[in-house]
Amino acid sequence: MHDITPITGPAPWACDPTGTRGRRYPEAPTPTRNDHQRDRDRIVHSSAFRRLVYKTQVFVNHEGDLFRTRLTHSLEVAQLGRSIGRSLGLNEDLVEAICLAHDLGHTPFGHAGQDALNECMRDWGGFEHNLQSLRVVDTLEQRYPDFDGLNLTFETREGILKHCSQRHAQLLEEQEPNGVAARFLRGEQPSLEAQLANLADAIAYNAHDVDDGVRSGLITLEQLQAVPLFAHYHQQALAQHPHLAQPEAERRLLYACIRLMLSDQVYDVIATTQTNLARTGVASVHDVRQCGQRLVAFSAEMHQRSQALKTFLLHQLYRHPQVMHTMEAAQQVVRELFAHHLHQPDDMPARFAQRAAQAADEAERARAVADFIAGMTDRYAISTHTRLTGQHLLAQ
Ligand code: MG
Repeated sequence: MHDITPITGPAPWACDPTGTRGRRYPEAPTPTRNDHQRDRDRIVHSSAFRRLVYKTQVFVNHEGDLFRTRLTHSLEVAQLGRSIGRSLGLNEDLVEAICLAHDLGHTPFGHAGQDALNECMRDWGGFEHNLQSLRVVDTLEQRYPDFDGLNLTFETREGILKHCSQRHAQLLEEQEPNGVAARFLRGEQPSLEAQLANLADAIAYNAHDVDDGVRSGLITLEQLQAVPLFAHYHQQALAQHPHLAQPEAERRLLYACIRLMLSDQVYDVIATTQTNLARTGVASVHDVRQCGQRLVAFSAEMHQRSQALKTFLLHQLYRHPQVMHTMEAAQQVVRELFAHHLHQPDDMPARFAQRAAQAADEAERARAVADFIAGMTDRYAISTHTRLTGQHLLAQ
């Protein structure tokens, strides 16, 4: 058991909403919500957020009602983020906002969809879901009278841009000097809230992909015995509840293992981060940014175990022949949708068709098509593809 004393109240290393670096378009404060609470609410009310419900996490949306989607994944990430953030004295609202927004830029069909779209866009700057999440909140959402996007605070946008190549960072920096990409050029760290959202994402998907993987029948509890992180909790769960060894109790056993695994990882992050904070002596958000290392982290041992589980899921689940087969079909859907709309932009909804028509060059035209396709849900992509080609590549 970890020896943890939760930190109560906002700590000096937490982002203070009253000290925000602000919004790109200044707005008057509201009487009831601080700026990061407003960010979170804007994200929940966005159309990109609603579309996450029909976007693939691992399994294509129609493959089963109980599998995670991008939406339920994002909610689980936010729950873990808030829970850990509270024990570290962080700004919970900011953590929640970043967690809820972190996957807004995902294409239909998960990473397979992204890879296909990136390939389609290779001559025009490529496609990356992380950058796209920022595009969604900065420009693609249309909800306000006088500006595009959700006009989120710097801190939320910084957290959404969790990684970025030097080339992309330079491009973003040209558009927004000293903006959200500057830290990639300067080698600075993001806020602790952003660091936490990143780790909460990994904790969430490792756990729920085990659950969904076993539910799908593509991986088994026996196979998972080979993964030290899981085997450890499996033994612990059986020692605590011997009756779960009965075959009919398999699902309860799986949940007992996942619960132990989640708790242990959460406690490990809190304990390790508290140690890191004490060791480095950071006393402000400025110190966090200048600190040469990530402070929200697993212990070395938990990091290694978590990586081993990630590797197992990669080989046994994400690259399972059945998943690969579906994803190859999904990639064909994306490629053919892209090719069609690039040549017939008028088949897109008016706002994208208009952008394509007014584009200054081919790159801008292609970007309008990429934005349209990235925003599609799985089922919209499948039905549009079927309507345009007459093919049924992914039965619904
Ligand atoms: Mg995620």
